[in-house]
Amino acid sequence: MSDAPKPDPLWFDPSLCLIGGCWVAPAGGETLALADPSIGRDICRIARGGPADIDAAVGAAENALAGEWGRMTALERGRILTRLGRIVLDRADTLARLEAMDVGKPLSQARADALALARYCEFYGGAADKVTGQTIPYLDGYTVYTLREPHGVTGHIVPWNYPMQIIGRSVGAALAMGNACVLKPAEEACLTALAFAHLAIEAGLPAGALNVVPGLGSEAGAALAGHPGVRHVSFTGSVATGAAVQAAAARNVVPVTLELGGKSPQLVFDDADLDAALPFLVNAGCQNAGQTCSASSRILVQRGVYETVKERMAAAYYELTVGPAMEDLRVGPLISTRQKEIVTGFLERGAGLTVAGQGRIVDHAPASGAYVRPTLFADVPPDHPLARDEIFGPVQVLIPFSTEDQAVAIANGTDYGLVASIWSRDGARQMRLAKRLRSGQVFINNYGAGGGVELPFGGVGKSGHGREKGFEALYGFSQLKTVAAFHG
Ligand code: NAD
Repeated sequence: MSDAPKPDPLWFDPSLCLIGGCWVAPAGGETLALADPSIGRDICRIARGGPADIDAAVGAAENALAGEWGRMTALERGRILTRLGRIVLDRADTLARLEAMDVGKPLSQARADALALARYCEFYGGAADKVTGQTIPYLDGYTVYTLREPHGVTGHIVPWNYPMQIIGRSVGAALAMGNACVLKPAEEACLTALAFAHLAIEAGLPAGALNVVPGLGSEAGAALAGHPGVRHVSFTGSVATGAAVQAAAARNVVPVTLELGGKSPQLVFDDADLDAALPFLVNAGCQNAGQTCSASSRILVQRGVYETVKERMAAAYYELTVGPAMEDLRVGPLISTRQKEIVTGFLERGAGLTVAGQGRIVDHAPASGAYVRPTLFADVPPDHPLARDEIFGPVQVLIPFSTEDQAVAIANGTDYGLVASIWSRDGARQMRLAKRLRSGQVFINNYGAGGGVELPFGGVGKSGHGREKGFEALYGFSQLKTVAAFHG
């Protein structure tokens, strides 16, 4: 085994919180270790923020709303976000290296995330001054119109799998609408959140418009979700934590956006263009080592092409190499040894199923890294745990079906409903199934549509509720006021 790659020196102090424009140590003075999953070793320490820090951050955000940030026009907010997008773009390589080190994401996937973060800032920067109200025809003597106003202080609880993209889509939209944000990144991966905050200051974001408090979910996260000064909570992560966040916010009667993952299917029909489908079928399962809320972990294949798809996907799996993030192979490590134990547990539950294909961990990958072999299971019954539960690892199941009705029943047969795709040349079937699939997004002859910063995104069922991304997010991060003037 070769020496593990050396981490980049950090260009900022990762052990601090950003509160009211100042980098400060957490009130409790404690820190948490942050590990690089490619090598399984700690690389730095981050702040262990707690309720006192959240309280200070919410106060700083309220001050920002009462001050310069709250008075800023939509055009000025948009200009800052657009400038921030440019800065992120210029630093994309640096951010990508930080993310690769922190999350274990292969370098080119981490770079794609940095570019998406830039794009979110640009998109929401451009959109900030384009959200308008309505005038409503009403009774004689009245003029009625609506105003879109910020909620106030918004809380953003972000997971470890796509920190840059999720910060871009939620903080970007919230700032565009004039909210002041308190961001709680995941304890497993928060370096790019801190880096982003440094870049936001460089872009001219006024003090307190963005505050960042790293820490444990049960401490800083819970304090943010239940803080009475927070007027909206955006959460991405697990179902159990999402439900706890919603319950905490409900005590303050505060709206919540929940994005909780899925068990997303791709439906491959006999008439599909298999050459076009194949790269999407495999990539949607192994991208970010399967730790993607919209990962496609179920591949439903009509019997006429089932054996062909199985053979071709299996061949692609045997080509998959797994190794350190900085080597930029197809698959990196999982986020942590804890996540490796979870995924390994699922693989063990697959004993007795047919393994159709498996990737390979490169020989020199450090033994202490959180690596698992990507695995494709075939002929999996739809009610098997591997076909039903979110695994959050590079594991896909192949499920055969005969008829369109059967395919829909299997596709809709889990608790989740985040994304789905249809591979078929039959236009009528495409339209029929787009309606019948219980899912927040449906893709026809593609999967993921290239990320889709512009495309509203969110789930049904246990995949969550509310929509982020696109223009739709701007409605979620604002509230509507109706003004009715009687003038006779
Ligand atoms: P999690 O839901 O516990 O953590 C997500 C975020 O919530 C983190 O910032 C965490 O600190 C915070 N958090 C944790 N407990 C909290 C609480 N009580 N109140 C407020 N915030 C809290 O997810 P995890 O433990 O990191 O991962 C476990 C599983 O969650 C994964 O295996 C995967 O299935 C799922 N997950 C889904 C997504 C997604 O994009 N949908 C992302 C990450 C994890």
